[in-house]
Amino acid sequence: MLAQRTLKSLTKAVGVGLHSGQRVELTLRPAAPDTGIVFRRVDLPQPVDIVVSAQAVTDTRLASTISSGAAKVHTVEHLMSACAGLGIDNLYVDITAEEVPILDGSASSFVFLLQSAGIALQAAPKRFIRVIKPVEVRDGGGANTKWARLSPYEGYKLSFEIDFDHPAVDSTGQRVEFDMGSGAYTRDIARARTFGFTKDVEMMRANGLALGGGLDNAIVMDDYKVLNSDGLRYNDEFVKHKILDAMGDLYVLGKPLLAAYSAFRSGHAMNNKLLRELLAHQDAYEVVTFEDEKKAPQGFAKLARAW
Ligand SMILES: [Zn+2]
Repeated sequence: MLAQRTLKSLTKAVGVGLHSGQRVELTLRPAAPDTGIVFRRVDLPQPVDIVVSAQAVTDTRLASTISSGAAKVHTVEHLMSACAGLGIDNLYVDITAEEVPILDGSASSFVFLLQSAGIALQAAPKRFIRVIKPVEVRDGGGANTKWARLSPYEGYKLSFEIDFDHPAVDSTGQRVEFDMGSGAYTRDIARARTFGFTKDVEMMRANGLALGGGLDNAIVMDDYKVLNSDGLRYNDEFVKHKILDAMGDLYVLGKPLLAAYSAFRSGHAMNNKLLRELLAHQDAYEVVTFEDEKKAPQGFAKLARAW
């Protein structure tokens, strides 16, 4: 059986929120089979649980925010991406503020935390959402066109294209494809950092945003170049970060996808719209498990041992 996964033990991290600049403590704890990923605001007078789901995402400006009633958690996508990349099905995330810490601006710190805690197999089959009919969402027109699509594929692969007109981005790859079957998430995707432009950062700060952002947790560019003294981690780090974000945005489904995701200039809002479009078409997907690990899609059984 291809089994669900959680952590073997508890692990903690302390950091600051990218937008709030607030200090926040994060505790990642094992959870029982079929719990899913649950954020718990432990700083509120009565702790509030927010179970991740496509519907729990209530704000997608700048970052993905989930909420339950008045309780919110901002910027869940990089931690969610690490969970997707490592195949974590069940997890409690105790958090002491409204925003997940940004750490180094990528998913690699979360990957490190999850791997240090160890990954445990559970006595329940891993449930996948297999896309059986294509779904697509589109926005804008002409130069403003953006779209995202899920198509049937017996595995999980993502291709993303960005279209930034900026000297520092032009010289790098603007399109990348990543297949989970490669087993290379940690090496090839997880280290890609979020990025921003100084002129936007100044405007965001004036509006009380990006208060925790800086050169140690983002790639920052002026009108001409990357300002980080140590440059880029990958030649195509920008578009790889978009794949990292998309993996986090899509993982709020609570189950891994068996699908090919492709997108052009998509972002958190459009990725969430795509999930809602999928869920609105019950004939477009089915939930599947693999009693025989060997029958799991190419790569997944192999990943199962590597994780
Ligand atoms: Zn991001």
